[in-house]
Amino acid sequence: FPSSTKIFTPGQPAPRGKSLITKGWLQEAALRMLLNNLDFEVAEKPEDLVVYGGRGKAARSLPDFHNILKALQELENEETLLIQSGSPVARIKTWQNAPRVLLANSNLVGNWANWNHFDELEKKGLMMYGQMTAGSWIYIGSQGIVQGTYETFYEAFQQHYKGVTKGRYVFSTGLGGMGGAQPLAAVLTGACFLGIEVDKKRAEMRLKSGYLDEIHNDIDSAMNSLKNSLSEGLAKSIAIIGNVADILPILLERNDFHPSLVTDQTSAHDPTYGYVPQGYSMEQVFQERKLNPKKVEQDAMQSIGKHVRYLLELKNRGIPTFDYGNNIRAMAKKVGVDNAFDIKGFVPEYIRPLFCKGKGPFRFVMLSGDSEDLKKADQALMNLFPHHNDIQRWLSLAPKRISIQGLPARILWLGYGDRLKAGLLLNEMVKSGEISCPVVIGRDHLDCGSVASPYRETEDMKDGSDAVADWALLNAFGNISSGASWVSFHHGGGVGMGYSLHAGMVIVADGSQEASERLKRVLTFDPAMGIFRHADAGYESSRKIAGEQMNRSVEADS
Ligand code: NAD
Repeated sequence: FPSSTKIFTPGQPAPRGKSLITKGWLQEAALRMLLNNLDFEVAEKPEDLVVYGGRGKAARSLPDFHNILKALQELENEETLLIQSGSPVARIKTWQNAPRVLLANSNLVGNWANWNHFDELEKKGLMMYGQMTAGSWIYIGSQGIVQGTYETFYEAFQQHYKGVTKGRYVFSTGLGGMGGAQPLAAVLTGACFLGIEVDKKRAEMRLKSGYLDEIHNDIDSAMNSLKNSLSEGLAKSIAIIGNVADILPILLERNDFHPSLVTDQTSAHDPTYGYVPQGYSMEQVFQERKLNPKKVEQDAMQSIGKHVRYLLELKNRGIPTFDYGNNIRAMAKKVGVDNAFDIKGFVPEYIRPLFCKGKGPFRFVMLSGDSEDLKKADQALMNLFPHHNDIQRWLSLAPKRISIQGLPARILWLGYGDRLKAGLLLNEMVKSGEISCPVVIGRDHLDCGSVASPYRETEDMKDGSDAVADWALLNAFGNISSGASWVSFHHGGGVGMGYSLHAGMVIVADGSQEASERLKRVLTFDPAMGIFRHADAGYESSRKIAGEQMNRSVEADS
């Protein structure tokens, strides 16, 4: 590299503050967000370029990581960088309002869209698994999912227990990058949490980040602590270290195991490199994944089968039990658990009404690295939405309980109309200097109009269009046309190869007039896709918004 190129190491925090090492804020934002995805505080295994979700990566290989950062430093304000599954393949002249980066990760033609074919390509160095926000550089640590998990648990407690959480607990497994949000999300609802995690290091990471309260190596001490918290009406989160296939059958035999909600967030979507089979120590599983990946996969599938049978047993005992988006039911069905889909998915059960209103996981990140900027943004957004009880509730809880990982960031579920208001406000705050540096605005691919995933976001659609992926493509095309700063299209996120197609978008609020125009287009179009998608599928609440609110705003604009 020329001596002017700054070289980074995966794990190293992203640069902060006002001075740029690139030729513009959009390139700078992409560079900082790629580095932030792999910051030691944020990523699960930065040394392997793994961000979260099994083997969800931010760049294909170490040379690719360096080449992307070099390309971003050289990229002009009227150029676009193309990333193919984590590798920079071209820089091309476009124009100022085009995205600075376009990313396509893990996409395979339907007939070849399975892990076996993907693994062959990955071995040859031709592909990378991008998960959702890992390969599209907008991961913000466990916080990214904590509000979605909170909204899910909150709604489940409303539906099943009239909102009473005191003296109740959520039971789940897997405290990884996303699953690690579960203990805190449960506690934020006022409930306790009992979880199982096989990898002690992962649980310790949650303890350190304040997402988890206690770790226990034995079941008795965990259950005693849980009992005390429940009887005192405290909201506490507790993890037991062990494999779910060993621990859950013991819990099922005990007469003091009565969770109120049950789910799971192991990486069951990836039986070879995500789920840990029964009988394997962590050292063994890491070694065997390299030496005998097929054997690991077969053993993991058998363990997943057992795991789902135990979940069905809990469901049969009358406890609300739901799939939390890791494809565990489809995996279990493959190994003979024919009734795995008796367990319902979290989207049709709890989240779809939000998607119908264009509501989803809006998020923003402070490129200054200054937590004071985040505080100012939180307060300004509280003031902007004084009558939204859900926003008031969330913004009064989140800043107190969520510790900063990497660049200061906030997740805030917002609907159609409100995302635009929030984006413009943040841009104004950058313009006036109230916020000291540009703000990155993005979202998860798990959103209202950006994903086709029949066992997750589009499960059980009213018109049976669960597997129709045209909407996800239209979402990407529209965000590109509207001038998002980077746009991505991925396959297999959340649920694994063959099960999903989805788009991501990020837009930078740098305080300029051009950014304001781009924000107007992108933050209108992107959530509007959720309304179009659900209106077309026959959901009345979306049709109403499409008919009233959207027509009105078009008239007002014209
Ligand atoms: P991760 O790979 O970072 O974490 C998975 C965790 O499960 C790890 O800590 C692992 O040690 C643990 N685990 C694996 N097998 C186990 C076993 N047999 N017993 C006990 N613990 C075990 O993944 P993540 O980012 O936390 O995501 C988890 C799953 O949730 C993935 O399938 C992901 O695609 C899905 N996901 C769902 C949502 C959602 O909104 N519902 C969002 C993101 C990801």
